[in-house]
Amino acid sequence: MAYGDKGGYGDREMHKVICSECKKETEVPFKPSGDRPVYCRDCYQKHRPARRF
Ligand SMILES: [Zn+2]
Repeated sequence: MAYGDKGGYGDREMHKVICSECKKETEVPFKPSGDRPVYCRDCYQKHRPARRF
């Protein structure tokens, strides 16, 4: 484990990935499988199904 900055994610393990859309480095709380795109938080919002409020 060599993560320098811990956010407010509790004790969930974060994995550094490159967003498939904007190519920014981000972290996700799941292990990237490598065969599907991974998005940063902003792009994930765009790709997830719209929710009604
Ligand atoms: Zn992105």
